[in-house]
Amino acid sequence: MTEYQPRLDEITFTLNHVAGLDAVSKLNGYQHADPETVGTILDEAGRFFSEVIAPLNRIGDQQGSVLTADGTVKTPDGFKDAYRKYVESGWASAHMPEQWGGGGLPYIVGVVIQEMFKTANMAFALAPTLTHGAVEALERHGSDQLKTTYIEKLVSGEWTGTMNLTEPEAGSDVGALRTKAIKQDDGSYRLFGTKIFITWGDQDLTENILHLVLARTPEAPPGTRGISMFLVPKFIVDGNGDPGERNDLKVLSLEHKLGIHASPTCVISFGDGGEGAVGYLVGDEQEGMRNMFTMMNAARVGVGMEGVAIGERAYQQALGFARERVQGRPIGAGGKESVPIIEHPDVRRMLLTMKAYVEAMRSLLYVTAGEGDHMFHGETEERRQLACDRLALLTPIVKAWCTDVGVELASIGVQVHGGMGYVEETGAAQYLRDSRIAPIYEGTNGIQAVDLVLRKVPLENGAVVARLLREMTEVVDRMADHDDLALFREELSVALQGLAETSTWIGERLTAGDIASALAGASPYLRQFGTVLGGWLLATAALEALNGPSGFDQDFLKEKVNTARFYGEQLLPMANGLVPAVKGGAGVLERAQF
Ligand SMILES: Cc1cc2nc3c(=O)[nH]c(=O)nc-3n(C[C@H](O)[C@H](O)[C@H](O)COP(=O)(O)OP(=O)(O)OC[C@H]3O[C@@H](n4cnc5c(N)ncnc54)[C@H](O)[C@@H]3O)c2cc1C
Repeated sequence: MTEYQPRLDEITFTLNHVAGLDAVSKLNGYQHADPETVGTILDEAGRFFSEVIAPLNRIGDQQGSVLTADGTVKTPDGFKDAYRKYVESGWASAHMPEQWGGGGLPYIVGVVIQEMFKTANMAFALAPTLTHGAVEALERHGSDQLKTTYIEKLVSGEWTGTMNLTEPEAGSDVGALRTKAIKQDDGSYRLFGTKIFITWGDQDLTENILHLVLARTPEAPPGTRGISMFLVPKFIVDGNGDPGERNDLKVLSLEHKLGIHASPTCVISFGDGGEGAVGYLVGDEQEGMRNMFTMMNAARVGVGMEGVAIGERAYQQALGFARERVQGRPIGAGGKESVPIIEHPDVRRMLLTMKAYVEAMRSLLYVTAGEGDHMFHGETEERRQLACDRLALLTPIVKAWCTDVGVELASIGVQVHGGMGYVEETGAAQYLRDSRIAPIYEGTNGIQAVDLVLRKVPLENGAVVARLLREMTEVVDRMADHDDLALFREELSVALQGLAETSTWIGERLTAGDIASALAGASPYLRQFGTVLGGWLLATAALEALNGPSGFDQDFLKEKVNTARFYGEQLLPMANGLVPAVKGGAGVLERAQF
């Protein structure tokens, strides 16, 4: 099995030359995050995640987290110690707000650190991912008292956070949830209900766990409008801010699942003891859905990141295997000796496909994260609004496109291994199993496509999409000076016309009230959009690499251009193949008989 080594040249290049770290580091409050300092930080982070966290990926899969007889969860061997090191070394809090004891690094840098954690060990990394979301929700919507009592513990990583939406009858339709919250005289609430599928719902890594729970107050209206958010600690915090009495909630069972075995997926019952679990309102009553979206948007980008991470890990594993596995003579080249399979054109195609998609997805992930920084710290209201709109548009694409492609890359990784990929020894199968959850949780990819079509395409009457299309076209113009990029340029230009055509078509269907047809094409439209964004960003990368920026070796830059060209000339053309599916309308689906 190949261990994980972050490709720091690729990460640094993408951060600096595609995603605009330089511009982010000039924003108010981020001046300490200049590209050079960030480079040093990422060097250290890479060492930590490859040496301390990555070696636990396999054992996490084999042992899994288990529910013990006393109703608490035991994590796999080595996790507790590694988590302690993660907290002590400051990686847990590096990009958290300084006000609460964090390192204050920009979100875009935090995303790279989290990407490394997820590439090293996706199941383990889910605990901090949800904790970061909880910090954001409390910071934005919590009362001063909630903030001062809880945020520092989450920021430092001393405690973890979870997100509790799902119930047996409320999955994609969160509005159907039934958990009840009854107000008490002291202003707190008592919660009664059962949540399922709660990631890291219990663990032995930290002294306390803070559950952010969606529930309904007795007089609340039905649907999402009637939902409120509560903070429900595993141990009720005493007057000194320490974990005290055990709250009335318990883990009933852990799910047995395809992958991410180290991540305990819990069924949790609140109020089983009869008293009700003590909870504190976050924000106002009936604003829970809006507040949870604060968590979910960051979490959706965080899940999209899992597609990048698992794709990278599967690629590194497949590359290592292809260099060592000797099989077959090169056909047509006259060689008599068997060669490592990396010499065969079809294996090279698989590897280059993996690499090109990973680099395209990483570019999209970092660009989206950079917009997150501009949204909060942009210098002008206009720039902040642009970032806000761009982030809104790109979030469902990052979530769904990257995770769908991540599964496909993990599958190609198995294929590169032949039979050794299908058996468990090499680890390639684990990546495929782990990857499969990402298109499902945090809003299935089908729901992301609905979000893109119904809420994001209509933003500003279509002007948000139109502006992005114009920006992408500017790159086509800049490519004109480079003969090497002529075919890529042509393909990008055609793909942009295709995306403009389908975007207009979807807008027209919505205006005509033909929602069914717009939704019938939603998933292929999202796939088309992601594929074109990848082309745009790798074209940008190729142009930057051709400029020969300092600090990168010539072979790396040449390879960057070659990979971008492969994407632009051979993968990008598939985007327009989706146009008929986007514009197919609802009729054929409605006529189908099952
Ligand atoms: C390992 C794991 C970890 C999880 N972690 C958490 C967690 O920490 N916290 C939490 O609250 N939840 C968590 N979940 C729950 C997860 O978010 C849900 O499984 C997910 O939202 C889908 O809900 P569902 O499983 O009920 O599927 P359903 O909602 O029943 O969906 C089934 C299928 O129908 C489609 N579908 C449903 N409604 C629509 C629609 N309106 N339009 C188009 N298609 C639709 C879906 O896309 C999907 O393909 C986790 C789940 C798993 C498996």
